[in-house]
Amino acid sequence: MGQGSSEFDLIARYFCLGVPSVWDSQGIGDDCAIVKIGETSVAITVDTVALGTHFFDDADPYTVGRKALAVNLSDLAAAGAIPRAFFLAISLPNADNAWLKRFSCGLQEEASRYGCALLGGDTTRTVSVNGMPASATMTITAMGEGQTLRTRQGAQVGDDIWVSGTLGDAYAALKMRWGHWTDSLTDYLASRMDTPTPRVALGQALNGLAHASADVSDGFLADLEHILERSHLGAKLNVDAFAISADLARLPRDRQLEAILTGGDDYELVWTAPKSARERIKALASDDCPLSLVGEIVAEGLLVEDASGRTVTYDRLGFDHFG
Ligand code: ADP
Ligand code: MG
Repeated sequence: MGQGSSEFDLIARYFCLGVPSVWDSQGIGDDCAIVKIGETSVAITVDTVALGTHFFDDADPYTVGRKALAVNLSDLAAAGAIPRAFFLAISLPNADNAWLKRFSCGLQEEASRYGCALLGGDTTRTVSVNGMPASATMTITAMGEGQTLRTRQGAQVGDDIWVSGTLGDAYAALKMRWGHWTDSLTDYLASRMDTPTPRVALGQALNGLAHASADVSDGFLADLEHILERSHLGAKLNVDAFAISADLARLPRDRQLEAILTGGDDYELVWTAPKSARERIKALASDDCPLSLVGEIVAEGLLVEDASGRTVTYDRLGFDHFG
């Protein structure tokens, strides 16, 4: 057990409690816990979003509502589950009706789009401590079902590595809003950050085709690394194989690669599948959601190259709340 203080060190040190579950489940470490109940498996996930951490303080509450649920639906998509229900625990410094009305509107829109019912929750007030106002947080537990759900484990040597959509758009939007990148923010990039599309239908279509999958929330390399760790394998990647949006393509190549490989907040899916599934997976692509075959699972290591075989370097794998 490491003594670092990354998000994952903290989980390993303090939250692996060693109390076995009576329910048949794989335990901590995947996008969802998968609990087998009779013939059905239920996928369960929880994610918190906080104003100030995941959103700018003045973010449109409509987009906060949509995204708070979307990030959870994305975890269900990674497992290949059909969304069924969610619970909302919300903590607010005050009851701002105008804010809550728009938040509720965004939440309702996302819930109805995916047929996911709100079945319960909790509403509390946060107080200021030592003069520091506490932020608003929204914690959603989402549940979905399916017959054969997937985890981050199960990749095999020789599997293709696939990714959905165009990675890096949300990260580019964040860098522009922070002013780190001075290019002007387009509506398209802003929408990719504010209202990501969880790949729910794709996740289900991959049932029976993909061996292992994760959603890309912390950065492509970081989330692929979760699959590699859980599967005890390595990967070889070709950075020139990733689909890229027209707006990201306007930026210098080093920024494109930083955004694609290590930027977070994409809520796309990364998965591995046998080569025999290639044609069936290609048939799942659409104009709105291109699918890119970006590499291959190997026995060990993480080799990132361009199409000419030159090694591509990167500073970090992805986002870590305590890294
Ligand atoms: P995701 O990004 O899909 O929400 P993470 O990669 O952040 O998941 O988390 C890794 C694993 O650790 C997941 O299985 C998650 O459920 C688990 N986990 C994270 N925080 C805690 C915690 N405080 N207690 C128990 N398990 C946790
Ligand atoms: Mg996830």
